[in-house]
Amino acid sequence: MELSYQSIKTANQAREADEMRTESRRRNLLILIFHHLMEAGYMDAASALEQDTNVVLRQFEVCDNIDLDTVLMEYESYYFIKFQRYPKLTKKRPEPVESRHARSCGKKRVPCTGVQPLPRINSSHRPPSRGGVKKTEPKMVVKDASKAVGENGGRSTPPESTEFGLNVSPIIRNGAGEGQMKKGQLMDYRDLIQDASNSLSEPMEPLLKPLSAFIGMNSEMRDLAAVISRDIYLQNPAVRWDDIIGLQAAKRLVKEAVVYPIKYPQLFTGILSPWKGLLLYGPPGTGKTLLAKAVATECNTTFFNISASSIVSKWRGDSEKLVRVLFELARYHAPSTIFLDELESVMSQRGTGGGGEHEGSRRMKTELLVQMDGLARSDDLVFVLAASNLPWELDHAMLRRLEKRILVGLPSGPARQAMVSYWLPPLSCTGGVELRTELAYETLAQATEGYSGSDIRLVCKEAAMRPVRKIFDALESHQQGSCNMPVIHLETVTTEDFLEVIAHTKPSARNLTDKYTAWETEYESV
Ligand code: ADP
Repeated sequence: MELSYQSIKTANQAREADEMRTESRRRNLLILIFHHLMEAGYMDAASALEQDTNVVLRQFEVCDNIDLDTVLMEYESYYFIKFQRYPKLTKKRPEPVESRHARSCGKKRVPCTGVQPLPRINSSHRPPSRGGVKKTEPKMVVKDASKAVGENGGRSTPPESTEFGLNVSPIIRNGAGEGQMKKGQLMDYRDLIQDASNSLSEPMEPLLKPLSAFIGMNSEMRDLAAVISRDIYLQNPAVRWDDIIGLQAAKRLVKEAVVYPIKYPQLFTGILSPWKGLLLYGPPGTGKTLLAKAVATECNTTFFNISASSIVSKWRGDSEKLVRVLFELARYHAPSTIFLDELESVMSQRGTGGGGEHEGSRRMKTELLVQMDGLARSDDLVFVLAASNLPWELDHAMLRRLEKRILVGLPSGPARQAMVSYWLPPLSCTGGVELRTELAYETLAQATEGYSGSDIRLVCKEAAMRPVRKIFDALESHQQGSCNMPVIHLETVTTEDFLEVIAHTKPSARNLTDKYTAWETEYESV
């Protein structure tokens, strides 16, 4: 079969549009359920739903004329028109034998569902009544109730678009004024693609599936899964490729290894099956974490962010189980990215440390290797991105499993220049006060050779602090009683200021450059 570039791209876009729609529907459903629970006064259940889903559902409000009740009513009317009878929506479960037996013995049993009689609804919990509002084709949810209250008597104003990029249905999307689609009319394929690309420009956070469906786990594992979801799962890291300055080669390699297999799975089969483990190594503060976060943001994968040292210190006895559950969970929420930061702190070469390696830590290492092997054999879209500042300390067994090894080095001259001009542009605003700079960016780029991205950010911050420091005295002396404070004017940050800061802020990793280069020569795999 011949695959044209266009056909792959189109198929990918259609698939993405489809996924977005499903995700959007699932999320809307959760928001509707949440609001239904709140309206009915089931506050604890609503909070539990938020915890389970890891989404702050209360920051969304359902739009005018929509709630679960209305949706059901409309469905019933539709069903009635179509089949001349009302739909049967629920039915009683067959009664378990022992429950029947218990009743026959005259004991009254408490229902195991824990369902209580409907609570009295506190009027303060009820949103304003929507009764009597003329039905229009509604949007389902709108973010932030406060913003939705317009000047029209406290009624919600329909937002321009729904929160999640994709709107709920074609009818809704093409709301009044744009020519409504008839019910049942198929959506234009191009609309799908358009929707997909619109929503791609603002990525949705992946929605965690409920842990209750995380089957095959005993209660201890389930508890660990809950801990991982709370502490390790990171919601929307919000780093885009463009936020990373320089590192073009590393970006390209990471995209090739992780991003494209998710976007174009048709191309990555057989010998081209995707890499499962990737090591980003290099000096600290050069953007390794940013790269991992960009992968998660741009691919919309579930992102598990683990600092390896915290596994050891926090989880000690449980770290082996934690690793197992982590991988299970990543598979469950696939496509996922597991980011293992400071890998050397758990995967240092075995046997080093004078044979005094802790038994728990040894078992955890083995578990990590086993899980990595499992990934390599499976088709699950779970990627391990590991980062290390000291790659030469890594265990060789682990290195073999991290098939791609990419050096994220110190920023080049042009990258340093771009960083300085990004963090200290000629004019910016700090706390409502204008900050001006007059900097010879090229000179500063030369002067910061050997500095990492985070070093440069630190220097920029320090340079920007200088004029701010000068006004502290004025501010302090005016605090006592005086009401006519002069307008604050910050002095311009100059090249000399910057150079002076550099003289007192040394780069954190210059000395290791040769060591990275030597290691790259021996272990490079890009
Ligand atoms: P590490 O390589 O240690 O994981 P990080 O990715 O956490 O480093 O970077 C630390 C900080 O330094 C970032 O939050 C960012 O502010 C800055 N930084 C480092 N490299 C870059 C870069 N290439 N582009 C933009 N910011 C950078």
